[in-house]
Amino acid sequence: MSDAYIIDGNQFSAALRDKVGEGVRTLRDRHHITPGLAVVLVGEDPASQVYVRNKNKRASELSMRSFEHILSAETTEPELLTLIAGLNADADVHGILVQLPLPAHIDAQKVIEAIRPDKDVDGFHPWNVGMLASGGTGMVPCTPLGCLMMLKDRLGKLAGQRAIVVGRSNIVGKPMAHLLLKESCTVTIAHSRTRDLAEEVRRADIVVAAVGKPEMVRGSWIKPGATVIDVGINRIALPDGKTRLVGDVCFDEAKTVAGAITPVPGGVGPMTIACLLRNTLVAAVRLNKLHEDEFGV
Ligand code: NDP
Repeated sequence: MSDAYIIDGNQFSAALRDKVGEGVRTLRDRHHITPGLAVVLVGEDPASQVYVRNKNKRASELSMRSFEHILSAETTEPELLTLIAGLNADADVHGILVQLPLPAHIDAQKVIEAIRPDKDVDGFHPWNVGMLASGGTGMVPCTPLGCLMMLKDRLGKLAGQRAIVVGRSNIVGKPMAHLLLKESCTVTIAHSRTRDLAEEVRRADIVVAAVGKPEMVRGSWIKPGATVIDVGINRIALPDGKTRLVGDVCFDEAKTVAGAITPVPGGVGPMTIACLLRNTLVAAVRLNKLHEDEFGV
């Protein structure tokens, strides 16, 4: 059997960013509105600093407005909530993202719940979680949305496919499962207490791995021809002292069995920021009571 088709997240996300960029231009030229994204970072976590910088850079590239709020690790919860209330009320801000994790003295859930649901471009507010679970139209979390876009691009209609989501976190696993259910897949959600995970995975036409365990899903678990979406980002140490990024799926094994697979890096990762920009455009469109169809997103 020949190797799997490699789903190129860099190429796919570049195409999505182009599409969003076109939507931004249309919004500006026809309606004189520039989408604005506010990104809030509390503390000095180096990985978070890189993410925030990338998000703002990508937003500016598409001529969106970006508002960066870098706060010290000592920022109090009331101070953060006051900032969010200001962003909620600011007509130039259409999307608000608070970079997680927050320092331990701040209640992250309280902060998420303080963001206006229609500006919650991460889709983590309970209102948006409920809309997704009940099949309504809210903001969809960026990483699962990117995974779904890649799956639909590769497979077309997903109805009737057996899908397994390994991982049940609020930011990836659960929303992913809801999205697949909405597409009429038969969905299994696996987690750390699942019995005989290999056997569960072997039944699936679509495998989404979001576990955070390097190369846990083995090639022998994959049904021949299945489509594999690897959300995991794990940095592992190599014998020579260097490090390497790997996913939750053993790519070298799985690519000889799967029909299509996302690599790590260069798969799901780049889609997450592209979907954040897409959600910001969608938020700007909805807040101004316009129709999404006009903007091609
Ligand atoms: P969490 O740690 O929040 O959740 C991990 C999930 O995996 C949990 O539901 C856990 O089960 C399950 N799990 C853990 N061990 C096992 C096991 N041995 N067998 C089966 N299930 C297991 O992680 P996230 O969802 O936040 O992230 C998952 C991965 O995706 C990480 O590598 C993260 O870095 C990456 N990620 C990538 C993004 C991107 O942009 N590409 C964005 C977000 C995350 P239980 O609930 O029972 O504990």
